[in-house]
Amino acid sequence: MNEYYTHCDNCDDLISRENAYELDDNYYCSRCYHEKTHVIHSYSHKPTAIFYGEGKRFLGVELEIDRGGKDTDNAQELLDIANDAETQSHSIY
Ligand SMILES: [Zn+2]
Repeated sequence: MNEYYTHCDNCDDLISRENAYELDDNYYCSRCYHEKTHVIHSYSHKPTAIFYGEGKRFLGVELEIDRGGKDTDNAQELLDIANDAETQSHSIY
């Protein structure tokens, strides 16, 4: 067995260690990990946009938080902080 590869504990797909997600001492591929956690979305994830107000143009902000790692608890905490900040920004107007 190549030490750079492992198997996803859920679907048994061969995945590189680099792309393996560790959760409770098991390794998962990106898809299975995200299915299990539902918190961290894949890079291609596109959330449903919610439009406020009326008009022809809408502005959107994509907030990226770096160095959060792949830890679900961290992700949930960062999401809470980010979403709270977003809610507060609405009251500026
Ligand atoms: Zn998998």
